[in-house]
Amino acid sequence: MNTALARSRRRRAATAVTATLVVALIALILTVQQALPTASAAPLSPGSAAVADSTAAAGSATAADGLIDGGRVTVFDDVPAVTGLDDALRAALQRAARAAASDGVELRLNSGWRSAAYQRQLLQEAEAEYGSIEEASRWVATADTSEHVTGDAADVGPRRGAEWLGHHGADFGLCRVYANEPWHFELRADAATDGCPRMYADATERRR
Ligand SMILES: [Zn+2]
Repeated sequence: MNTALARSRRRRAATAVTATLVVALIALILTVQQALPTASAAPLSPGSAAVADSTAAAGSATAADGLIDGGRVTVFDDVPAVTGLDDALRAALQRAARAAASDGVELRLNSGWRSAAYQRQLLQEAEAEYGSIEEASRWVATADTSEHVTGDAADVGPRRGAEWLGHHGADFGLCRVYANEPWHFELRADAATDGCPRMYADATERRR
């Protein structure tokens, strides 16, 4: 075989490989694009980063309403979601966060104080997500009933942080309240001596 022919074959082979790679790359991008909306819709919780992100994109709530972006806020930060919390709850969260840190676990805040407008927006979004106000109300309270609006509740993340607080929170007077929301904590001052009270199955049981 002469050199020119061999070179031309190699070039054709290289072109074919490049074309295959380009097609594979496009297929990968399309797959990821299709997968993304589903992935971000799945873990719906008022405090989850997914909801916070979609809220930031779709809604009108801002940081002044207690909106938290992307789960990077700690209980020591000077933002409305933190400063709007009840003083005793915030102090308890800060004590717990220091203890968690000494265990090598980071506590962050996915949601804290929220304005009534922000709460209404979350409920509307949950209704759209769950298809009915009944199902949405298992997860998101109204502005009149939400402990977040009064500054009496904190949604803690990441998952490991919430699990740590689920185990150790009572020492700081911090208790889970809803069986279906392992991230949602409220202050129960007697918990250090009496333990945390029995949890509600979900928010609708509490309102009954
Ligand atoms: Zn909550």
